[in-house]
Amino acid sequence: KDLSKINMEQDLRKYFGFDAFRPGQKAAIRTLMEDRRVLCIQPTGYGKSLLYQLPSLWTDGLTLVISPLLALMRDQIRHLNERFGIPAASINSDQTAEENAAAQRSASQGRIRILFVAPEKLDNLETYEFLLGLNVGLLVVDEAHCISTWGHDFRPSYRQIVNAVRSFEEKTPHLRVLGLTATANQRTEADIARQLTDPAGNPLKILRTGMDRPNISLWVIPVQGTAQKLEVLEKLVREAEGAGILYCATREGTEVISEYLTEKNLDVVSYHAGYDSERKRELQQAFMEGTRKAIAATNALGMGIDKPDIRFIVHTDIPGSVTAYYQEVGRAGRDGLPARGILLFDERDRRIQDHFIRSALPSLEDFRTVYANIRPDEKNALPGLFAVKVRTGLHPTRVNLILAELTEQGLIKKKLVSRKQVYCRTEKKTAPDLT
Ligand code: ADP
Ligand code: MG
Repeated sequence: KDLSKINMEQDLRKYFGFDAFRPGQKAAIRTLMEDRRVLCIQPTGYGKSLLYQLPSLWTDGLTLVISPLLALMRDQIRHLNERFGIPAASINSDQTAEENAAAQRSASQGRIRILFVAPEKLDNLETYEFLLGLNVGLLVVDEAHCISTWGHDFRPSYRQIVNAVRSFEEKTPHLRVLGLTATANQRTEADIARQLTDPAGNPLKILRTGMDRPNISLWVIPVQGTAQKLEVLEKLVREAEGAGILYCATREGTEVISEYLTEKNLDVVSYHAGYDSERKRELQQAFMEGTRKAIAATNALGMGIDKPDIRFIVHTDIPGSVTAYYQEVGRAGRDGLPARGILLFDERDRRIQDHFIRSALPSLEDFRTVYANIRPDEKNALPGLFAVKVRTGLHPTRVNLILAELTEQGLIKKKLVSRKQVYCRTEKKTAPDLT
């Protein structure tokens, strides 16, 4: 469609009931319509979804959104269908086979505008081929930082997205591609842009503004010991307006806190990855619907939470990293109204995070074991730096890559590098796989 014939404000009001664009939204949409390939980096709550929802109305063919956030998907689809009158559906492993089949039928019969799909579904050949057979006009990669090994949340299944984008591009010459993320530093940004560059070498247009969230005020309250922490917490929750999240470093912490506050007649539940998916879904649902004062949670309560009116986020322990802190505190005040981030700081809590950091990396003993199992001929062929895969105690099912150095005497010096860094290094050096 010819953009000059479209009244963007009118469609914004008509379909979404919004009076005006937020700063930058209109320019981003314009760029997507005209230049076709955009990576948009904007903070959480900015309204990135609108950047494809509105263009989906003007695009010939379907808008396909690849998104890892199941709970968010459900919410969005409901809004799109019921509030905005834009037919949408999704394909994901959370739905029954019948629901997925129905979504596929609607999509192939052109009865929906927007189709959401979970990245894991791209690994399924049947689904993948079905999607490729659709007439897609706009392809959206939500949480695009997940495709980069430099991103803080790299997901192997996101690899397949890059292939999907390529395949769609080969098939559809005028395809529009939109990457969306709230967190990408310059390195991640460059990596996403590189991966999403089209076969003709046309780079993405990158749109980025500041990461400031002016409506969130940040506070630190020093505490000493658990008893005092709980006391302060009770006061905070009792006096706080609206609903909030109480982030804890451990599962046990979430239960201690929710029990304590429940005893004090506050409506607080706990949430962590140890609960089954049914229970987790119920807890999320109740919290999203605003029937709970607060939820004491580990960082397992994360990306799926799209409650616009969270008024306070309390970190009852120090968070794992600054990035994690930004993400977590950023879940407050997505509606733009005042919200608070409060950190309860107890010097002793450092120990928990130190422990997590230490146990996320393999020990020197792990190294020796791996090294002892390398065949002698391989040992000779090893370069000075190499990578090994080991299973660590903390995540028994997760394979960690670490970087080691062989000295002249055949000893190994451990390099303390994070998993992310290693992924990249090994890619560049194509280090031998020693497992
Ligand atoms: P993001 O994906 O950037 O975190 P969302 O797309 O989920 O943000 O949008 C956050 C909230 O802002 C949603 O409730 C959305 O309906 C609202 N929103 C988006 N654009 C506008 C606008 N122009 N005016 C008012 N509300 C908006
Ligand atoms: Mg979003």
